[in-house]
Amino acid sequence: MIGQAARRSLDDLLGERVEFDAPLARHTSLRIGGPADALATPLSRTELAKTLALCHEHGLATHVLGAGFNVLVSDAGLRAVVIRLKKLRGIERVSQTTIAIEAGASHATITRYCVEHGLSGLEFGAGIPGTLGGWLAMNAGIGVREIKDVVERIDLLAADGQRLPTIERESLDFQYRTLPGLPKGSVMVGAHLAVTESQRPKVQSEIDRLLSHRQATQPTDIPSCGSVFRNPPDDFAGRLIEAAGLKGTREGGAEISTVHANFIVNRGGATAADVLRLIERARKAVAHGSGIQLDTEVQLLGEQPSILEMNAS
Ligand SMILES: Cc1cc2nc3c(=O)[nH]c(=O)nc-3n(C[C@H](O)[C@H](O)[C@H](O)COP(=O)(O)OP(=O)(O)OC[C@H]3O[C@@H](n4cnc5c(N)ncnc54)[C@H](O)[C@@H]3O)c2cc1C
Repeated sequence: MIGQAARRSLDDLLGERVEFDAPLARHTSLRIGGPADALATPLSRTELAKTLALCHEHGLATHVLGAGFNVLVSDAGLRAVVIRLKKLRGIERVSQTTIAIEAGASHATITRYCVEHGLSGLEFGAGIPGTLGGWLAMNAGIGVREIKDVVERIDLLAADGQRLPTIERESLDFQYRTLPGLPKGSVMVGAHLAVTESQRPKVQSEIDRLLSHRQATQPTDIPSCGSVFRNPPDDFAGRLIEAAGLKGTREGGAEISTVHANFIVNRGGATAADVLRLIERARKAVAHGSGIQLDTEVQLLGEQPSILEMNAS
């Protein structure tokens, strides 16, 4: 809960850019999630720094959300000030081989910029929905390429809004679908990415090729959060879930996709509890059939109910 004094301070700082008791379902690709205590959308880095400082001063938890494409927010929501960076979306060419991008820039904005300027290297991101901040936090990628392959440096703010020293590529510990080791509560505000000069039609045709492959193999026209589980070494979570016979399995409005078994889709009215039940069913069936323990890739946010509570509801 946010006390009156903190509420007033947030209102004074952000005006219409802060919403209290804001339903998060509108801001996640699964269209699931209860309310955040507050949802803040700062206009600039300076305003972001002030928002973080204010929350720090009032002892309010903060959580930065990208475009919500890889999160499952609990039905009870988040007891935090959720901060979205969608206004921080600038892109600038800083040299022939480097572009500086703000963390709130979307995959669409970034790839459009690359096509317009005939820059190659980021085509793989065209079908990975989200923001640069989400790409970095998740080390997003496809089989052959991940964001770690192109990152030169990352700029961050500390949890209290202070600027932190830039982290250079050599000091970043990117791993499969995660970037561990950043200071707790810090927010990535931008990064420098490496590109090479190319020709616009060439960049566009590689994007088109990747997008049509995706459309043929993934459920792209229905709410989902992308891959629910990380692939285990030398195997694929989707293959294991399909082999366990779970494609098309439903819990309430949630369904293990009939197109790609590592996707859970919202067929309408699904709750976070429905999705968690499917996650547990898939985990158990795969462990039973193959002995492999699947780990979630999707970020579980907020207090999720225990399995016992879920079974009782
Ligand atoms: C249809 C579909 C297909 C997908 N395909 C792929 C794929 O091929 N490969 C792949 O890797 N992923 C894929 N995903 C997952 C998703 O697109 C990526 O994980 C993406 O990086 C999420 O970005 P986001 O901005 O939506 O992040 P969110 O989902 O909003 O957040 C993810 C995490 O990043 C953190 N975060 C976000 N911004 C910041 C920041 N500025 N500073 C610090 N932390 C931050 C959040 O706190 C959260 O923990 C897919 C998803 C969908 C729905």
